[in-house]
Amino acid sequence: MRSIVIFCIALGLPLLTQAAVANEQSPKSLNESRALDSSTVSEKVEADEGTVFTTNRRKNSTLNSDFDKNASNQDAPEVAFTLLGQDILRGSFERLYWTAGQAIAGLAMPTPILVAAGNKPGPTLCLTAAVHGDELNGVEAIRRVMFSLESDKLNGVVIGVPIVNMHGFRRTSRYLPDRRDLNRYFPGDPKGSSAGRIAHSFFNEIITHCDRLIDIHTGSFHRTNLTQLRGNLGKESVVQFSKMFHDVTVLDGAGAPGTLRRAAVDAGIPAVTLEAGEPLRLQLKEVIQSVNGIKAVMYHMEMIGQKPNRAPKQNVFYKSTWLRADQSGVFLTEAKLGQIVKKGDILGTVTDPITNRSSVIRSNVDGQIIGLALNQMVMPGFAAYHVGIAADEKKVAADKVADSIVAEALEPVAENMKEVAREAAQTAAKTSNDPAKVSAAARKAVQDATRNASQLVDQPKSDKDKDSSPNEIDKVIDPESISSPRPNDELEEHPE
Ligand SMILES: [Zn+2]
Repeated sequence: MRSIVIFCIALGLPLLTQAAVANEQSPKSLNESRALDSSTVSEKVEADEGTVFTTNRRKNSTLNSDFDKNASNQDAPEVAFTLLGQDILRGSFERLYWTAGQAIAGLAMPTPILVAAGNKPGPTLCLTAAVHGDELNGVEAIRRVMFSLESDKLNGVVIGVPIVNMHGFRRTSRYLPDRRDLNRYFPGDPKGSSAGRIAHSFFNEIITHCDRLIDIHTGSFHRTNLTQLRGNLGKESVVQFSKMFHDVTVLDGAGAPGTLRRAAVDAGIPAVTLEAGEPLRLQLKEVIQSVNGIKAVMYHMEMIGQKPNRAPKQNVFYKSTWLRADQSGVFLTEAKLGQIVKKGDILGTVTDPITNRSSVIRSNVDGQIIGLALNQMVMPGFAAYHVGIAADEKKVAADKVADSIVAEALEPVAENMKEVAREAAQTAAKTSNDPAKVSAAARKAVQDATRNASQLVDQPKSDKDKDSSPNEIDKVIDPESISSPRPNDELEEHPE
């Protein structure tokens, strides 16, 4: 008997301690995550609703008195919208919790979602950070934006997710626990890998509610980024959105498949990545630049009245290149982030610590340093400087239109050739089992078709096309329809 009591005490103590810790971290999260995991979501949330709102308001009153004051106004309970099964009232500031719906209830890792709903209706702007768990500048930028908002001066709703990848954040890691990069799995797959399911849940529960999205990142792997936007400037909606940032540098690119911003754009939500500084650090200058950029966007979206205090002047780069080390050794930079460089300029040195042999890294283009490696040991081929290449914007725009017309014109030709080759191969396969003969027949068919291809290109598709003069080209082409492959391979070196 006595031994059982001792056993219980020994067992009970650590269990109680753990429970206390869990409660402290997320007061209502365990209850809510269970509700979200089960099929009776609405019932449970409904039942909890009254207490949930009161609790959140009391908590937030210390953080933002203006929202609290307004929340106590019983006359205006108008619902702005519903998020995670909870009605968000106008003039309220809420802290909700999202879980990916796959956690074991006791081990759930709920992710806080901050929601500020202004008194007046308007668009919904979403801010996300730490999709890579080691990128901290965005976490602080979102905190500053969210807790500076005032309900009577805000039109619409701001949804702020300071830490999307909570798993990575707690382990100071870029990745999910299985070493997968969450920012390659959007919009996700409900039946896919763990990363695919997390991405799917987040995308559907949160991102689909956004009218516009700013996903904040930093450089990665011991590199730092000049505060800059990454956006697909082949999409008119993204061009307009990026201009709202006022004075933040822009780099064109569709983004790697699976990135949050690319998936959002594909879903019709204008989205950009805001890159600022380096991982694992909190850098005030980059945080302030990010906050200013977001506030400028909110002004241009007519969500706030506060005018940006800087002039709208943006550097836009349609192309960029990486300058690399040609030997191994100690890399020391002489050039600084943001520096304007000319072709031939010496930017840094690499010195072998054993032989003392040294070489320089020169710029091979005119442009601006938009990303650079921190001083470190490097190997030959190491990407040291990311340079945005200066180009004539009008020429680039013209090239883009030309590319899209070529792509459009070649599409039926390619289809036709595929069909011709397939038919030839199938006919050959009926008479011979020899793969060489089959492929030779298909090849010949394609060659013959190539000779006739000009006829295909020359045929206008409709009367409307026939009438359009060269000057009307930009009107005929819907910019949104230009899905522009324009793969910016160099970005892979410096992943978002
Ligand atoms: Zn990142």
